[in-house]
This record gives sequence, C-alpha cells and structure tokens, in this order.
Amino acid sequence: MPIRGDRIVADIEAIARFTATPGAGSDRPSFSAAWRQARDHVLAEAERAGCHWRIDAAGNVHIRPRGVSWSRRVWLSGSHLDSVPGGGDFDGVVGVVAAIEVLRAAHEDGRSDVPLEAVVFAEEEGTTFGLGMLGSRGWIGTLDAAALAGVRNRHGKNYWEAGADQGASAERLAADRLRPADYAGLIELHIEQGPAMWKHDHRVALVTAIAGRRQYAVVLRGVANHAGSTGMDDRHDALAGAAEAIAAVECLPDLLGDHAVATVGRIAVEPNAVNVIPSRAEFTVDLRAPDDDSLELGDERLRALVAAAAQRRGLEHEIVRTESLPAVRLDGPLADRVRAAAGGLGLAPLAETVSGALHDAAILAPLVPTVMIFVASRDGISHNPAEFSRIDDIATATRLLAAVVDADPA
Ligand SMILES: [Zn+2]
Repeated sequence: MPIRGDRIVADIEAIARFTATPGAGSDRPSFSAAWRQARDHVLAEAERAGCHWRIDAAGNVHIRPRGVSWSRRVWLSGSHLDSVPGGGDFDGVVGVVAAIEVLRAAHEDGRSDVPLEAVVFAEEEGTTFGLGMLGSRGWIGTLDAAALAGVRNRHGKNYWEAGADQGASAERLAADRLRPADYAGLIELHIEQGPAMWKHDHRVALVTAIAGRRQYAVVLRGVANHAGSTGMDDRHDALAGAAEAIAAVECLPDLLGDHAVATVGRIAVEPNAVNVIPSRAEFTVDLRAPDDDSLELGDERLRALVAAAAQRRGLEHEIVRTESLPAVRLDGPLADRVRAAAGGLGLAPLAETVSGALHDAAILAPLVPTVMIFVASRDGISHNPAEFSRIDDIATATRLLAAVVDADPA
C-alpha cells in the first residue's frame, strides 16, 4: 500500500484550519463547530476512499472499507481530533490521519477489504468537560449515561446536550457498547509529547506501557505568628515544611526507576501575607510510573517524606489520595507483531518507550489487545501551538501501521 506523506500533510493542515483561534494553534473542544468541521473533513476523505462509517452512542466515529461489514473482526486504529485550548496541530490528529491514510492507500490499491477500522474518539483531552477520555470510557462502559450527564462544558451543556447534534445518544449507550470480540487489536499512533525520542533521534517507537498515575492533596498545618517577633526556633512554619517536602518529591522518582516522574503543580498558602508566618500550606502531587509496584513504593515514600518534613517543624499533616489509575502494560503478542513488521520495513531494531501521558489506548487495553506507536515530538513540546513532528516520521509510522494491519487477524 503506497502511503503518501503529502496526503498526510494536507490532512493535518486542513484540520489545523478548523480551530476557534486561527493562526494561534488548535482550539477544538469536542462537539464544537471546529471539531465538527474536522470530523466532517475526515468523513469526506473516508467516503472518497470507499469507506462507510457510523457514530456510536458515545459520539465516537467508526470508519471501515465498504467491503468490510460491521460484524467482521478487524484491527482498530485511531485517536482524537479534540484539542486543549491553545493546543498543537498534531496531538491526536496524527493518529486519526494515519489510519485514514492506510484506508486511502488500500483503496488506491483496489482493495476494499483491508481489515481495518479507523476510529475518532470523542473528547480525549478532558479540557472540554473537566474529565478525559469520555468517548472511549463511554464506549467501553466505565462511564454510564448518568455519569456523562453529570459533566458540563463552558456553555453549561452536559455531554449529551453538547453531543446530540453529532450523534451522541444517552438512550442508546447501554446497547451500543464495545464488543471486544469484534477487534483483533488496537494500534494507536500518537506523537510522543515528551523530549526523549527527539533527543535520542528515535523517530518512531513502539510503546510497551502507559504510565499509571496517582494524585494527592497534601496539607500541612502550623501556627500563624508575627514575622518580626517570633524567633526562628519558635516557629511552626507550614510553608517552610511544604518547601522541604516539595524538594524531596522532586527527588522521589530517582528511587522508582526509569520513566517515573513526580510533580507538584499547585500550592495554596494561608494566610498568604508578607509579614505572617504561614499557618497552612496545601499542595498537590502527581506521581507517574510505568508499573504498579513503583507507584506503590512511591506512595509509601511520599507519605514518609511528608511526615518527616512535618515532624521537624512540629506541623500537623494530612495526605489524601485523590486519584489512582493503574499502569497499563500493552499487549505482548501485538508488540511482537509490530516488531516483526518493523523488521520487514528495515526499521529494526525499533526503539521502545513508555507513555507518560494517558491515551484512549489505556482505556481499551484491558479489553482489546493494544499497543501504541509514537512519533518524535520536536523538542518534546506539546499542548502548545509550537508542537511539531516531521512528516517523514509520521509517514514511516503510518507505513508501520499499514504493515501491521495488512493481513486478516487470526
Ligand atoms: Zn492526544
């Protein structure tokens, strides 16, 4: 199948023009006018390539060659078209366009039966309704109709109200769930969104795991007092305790092995006044690692380091875990299939990595054999209008995808 980079570029550029902020990156919340235009562009390309399509009750778009019925077992590949505000033109779009290009190339080859379904997941990013991967979670059933009625966008519309014109339907959701047996595997192609591949000149990589994530709210309580008349030995400074803990959190990943990361992204201080010793400091911790043992060890160490920082200053402390998502190990046999296909294309040995970011692939992985293929991101920049990946690399990854799906699944 002749994969063509020029068609891929044309799609990426066309979709980039569908944004609420022309010239300033992509702003394409799910179900917005810009998102609808991007989706319609993809559907028009699919129809030109001899495909038929349907929209499931959760608002995800499914596209197959006309010669492939909806009941046939196929490979699944795709990603998302929604973006964060001020986002880039490649995040998600690359995975959708790659799957469409494979369908186009097959059509050009006179093949109307390539066993591939392209998918556009609705609302992956989480910035439209405050919660991510809604389309995929609705499709597999971990979010039900009531849960999706409980999230609202900035116009005050819930998922069903916002998506009604675009095929989303609360009434149909329970009956229109993913049937895992329909799919031999999911291959999601995506940009890396981090600097490692670009730095090492790994242009395309196989993703073998998606990091799990734990998030925490940490509170330290001390005593507010006069900044002039309270000696340094007589203080219970909640912010100084938080500072010590935060510095220790930054070192935590060293204990947890490769690909572990920890971030304190938010802090609030009381009373937050120039001449008052802080009585209360609250901060968040976001901890990610590619396996659950590392997350568990990180959890223990985090609790210990906060307790130690509190004890040194006579502070009270509290740690609440606000989220726990397990690490996802991607499918071994499907990964082998990707490695073999890479060998056939002269891409061996294919670089291998771990995804620090979450993706729809992580949602489907417990039900359908899943892997991801990453394309290097220039300087690791993403969720930013400067986001960029080389078209040559995207085309190479698309050729790899084509090779993986170019045979009937067992
Ligand atoms: Zn994405």
